Amino acid sequence: MRCALRTASVSPIRLCRCRQRAAVYHAIVTQDLDGVFAVDTLMHGLEGITAVYYLPGPDRSALIEAGPGSSVQHTMKGLEQLEVDHLDFIILTHIHLDHAGAIGHLCERFPSATVMVREEGAPHLVDPSRLWASAARLYPDMEKIWGEMRPVPKDRIRAISNDEAVADLGGGRRIDAIYTPGHARHHMALLDRQSGDLFAGDAIGVRLQDAGVIRPATPPPEFDLEAAVESIERMRAFRASRVLPTHFGPAPDVNAALDEAILRLNQWVEAAEPVVESGGDMTEVAKEFRSRREDFYPDLTSEVTARLEGTTSYDLNAAGIVRYLSKKKEAAGAS
Ligand SMILES: [Zn+2]
Repeated sequence: MRCALRTASVSPIRLCRCRQRAAVYHAIVTQDLDGVFAVDTLMHGLEGITAVYYLPGPDRSALIEAGPGSSVQHTMKGLEQLEVDHLDFIILTHIHLDHAGAIGHLCERFPSATVMVREEGAPHLVDPSRLWASAARLYPDMEKIWGEMRPVPKDRIRAISNDEAVADLGGGRRIDAIYTPGHARHHMALLDRQSGDLFAGDAIGVRLQDAGVIRPATPPPEFDLEAAVESIERMRAFRASRVLPTHFGPAPDVNAALDEAILRLNQWVEAAEPVVESGGDMTEVAKEFRSRREDFYPDLTSEVTARLEGTTSYDLNAAGIVRYLSKKKEAAGAS
């Protein structure tokens, strides 16, 4: 039985909680009239924090993001519920483990799918060992948190180096890449030229449906404030009809979301600056962020804050911002 709802209006998105196999599994599948399905990966066992987006076209179909390896069984079940037995494209906004961890599993399950990823990220899918080792510096128990990352055969990958068409789904539905460094150097957003939907990955940060506010995503080692703001302005120029960050689901007012994304990036970096200036390290910066919670987000419940922590934690954001500020200081000293 299909669980996707066929709703009469585009927004708000309605959630359907499937409970057929509630004892072992339940998934939330969202659908809108434009034919985008968000499958909840239930990352870290948490609902509504990390999506993969399924885009069926008249001739071909695409999945945007692969989700984490540790919860790939939920992603597979969600796709099964949508009766997806074939994919032509799996498009990754970037290769961080919450977005790309399950890519090897999905390639095995969907043998006809071509993987689209920015050229800087492609080698790390063929041989994930360096990506894995780099993440292991941040996470204590990699396998428990991220599962297993399987390699992708090189001939299954198309490396993207420009703002170009990455997938033609037929009937005029084409997906284009927009290069959006900042969160990571190899990040790209994706624009559905037909519907105007902008799949922003982590380029605008995290915006959970029940939070309705944006938490910036500023992880090490590549977070760069100026590049991130510039990328947001690049995306704005495409005048998208909706923006859909991977964490999680559509934001109806694109300009408001982009404005807030810039405001939040600056807010968090500005909060970190005096701590770093006075010699504080990432632990102290994270402490500063925690102490500003009420100030930054007065209406968030602690339950929502806990789920936000599952996407991009205070510690991770602090580590990325401290690294960014130190690199900036070094560069200023050298010039
Ligand atoms: Zn992410």
